[in-house]
Amino acid sequence: MTELWEKPHDPLVPEVERVAARLRLAARSVELDRAPAFPAHEFRELGAAGLLGLTVPPARGGRGLPPARAAVLLFHLAYLGGTAFAKLALQPEFSSVLGEQGGPELIDRWYRPLVRGELLVGNQITEPAAGSDASAIALEAKPAGGGYELSGTKSEAAFAVDAEAAVVYGRRPGAARAEGVSAFLVPQDLPGVRRTQGPADLGERWQRRGSIVYDRVQIPASFRLGEEGRGFDYLRGELARERGLLAAIYLGVARASWEETVRHVGERTAFGRRLADQQAVAFPLVGAGADLEAAWLFTARALDRLEPGAAGSADTALAKVLATRAALSALDLAIQFHGGSGYSGSAPHERRWRDVRSGPIAHGPTEVLLGVAARRLWPASRER
Ligand SMILES: Cc1cc2nc3c(=O)[nH]c(=O)nc-3n(C[C@H](O)[C@H](O)[C@H](O)COP(=O)(O)OP(=O)(O)OC[C@H]3O[C@@H](n4cnc5c(N)ncnc54)[C@H](O)[C@@H]3O)c2cc1C
Repeated sequence: MTELWEKPHDPLVPEVERVAARLRLAARSVELDRAPAFPAHEFRELGAAGLLGLTVPPARGGRGLPPARAAVLLFHLAYLGGTAFAKLALQPEFSSVLGEQGGPELIDRWYRPLVRGELLVGNQITEPAAGSDASAIALEAKPAGGGYELSGTKSEAAFAVDAEAAVVYGRRPGAARAEGVSAFLVPQDLPGVRRTQGPADLGERWQRRGSIVYDRVQIPASFRLGEEGRGFDYLRGELARERGLLAAIYLGVARASWEETVRHVGERTAFGRRLADQQAVAFPLVGAGADLEAAWLFTARALDRLEPGAAGSADTALAKVLATRAALSALDLAIQFHGGSGYSGSAPHERRWRDVRSGPIAHGPTEVLLGVAARRLWPASRER
């Protein structure tokens, strides 16, 4: 709609647009906010359309797109349907430790069906006493009977009551900090697993977050993902990629509201003039558009640099910081310049703001991500 900052291009964007229109994703986002539930039908359809796991290699059922191309498609999916369906499209990436470290039987039984949208695999890291500092997790993974016995509690997890299985991070008893953490695939219907849905969230309610108690849950050794004690290393690689892709999603959502607001203030009059003729309205909107574009360029470059070997993890961390800041302030302006209707549920802006508000917390809080970058500027004395 504007020549100033065109939306990013990719030859696959028309495909995304067709799927979004066929599945009525914009309308479904509103319905999911009002009646939160896991959108199993759309998840399957996105899988059938090849829009789940865009960066997952074809050998594991995905599209195998470079992250920077996947980001363009996620931007458009979010622009058209909000965070819900774009984040669902990333669910195989959120569980990439299963795809990359699981044995062939686990891949066939759980990962390929996830990429096809036939079942849901969640990701459980956070615990009541370990969130930002994930290396402090306490869920015990005790070697027992040739496999493992899991005991402890996970909290804050998306799809707590909906996922058929989850990638669960646990620690060998007595092991110190990150070195003792391993990742496991845990079917959620095993004896000893108790799941509870938490109170309704501010936004993204369709995730139905909650807690999962593991009470001496027995799993075979083949359910461990990769090597014992390497879980945290694998997770770091996954987070580096997914933070950049999430940044693209937040920017796509905010772009929709920014465009709608530019149009609105060009039409709506008050005090005998268009709102856009007030500099107090026009200038912040120009600034917000530039901030969104700057965050997009930073994100695209961060994802480009990530490809050869995840060296750019500080860049994708900062991409999420910049994108969530730019997106939330653009969404706030959208609410403000739509006036009373902007604050009401009749316009999408307040819902989009609520959905994007999880961005500076989930997948690494802003303060922690700034710390990742700070350590690049001032390495800790033992790293120097
Ligand atoms: C929508 C949503 C979905 C989520 N989905 C999942 C999921 O599927 N699986 C899962 O395991 N978890 C999930 N989480 C949990 C999320 O990863 C944690 O909430 C996050 O890691 C922060 O941990 P915490 O809540 O324990 O906050 P805390 O660790 O208690 O931190 C609270 C705040 O303190 C500040 N802070 C923390 N450390 C520092 C520091 N070193 N320096 C400066 N400030 C700091 C930050 O502002 C932070 O937000 C989800 C969260 C949300 C909001």
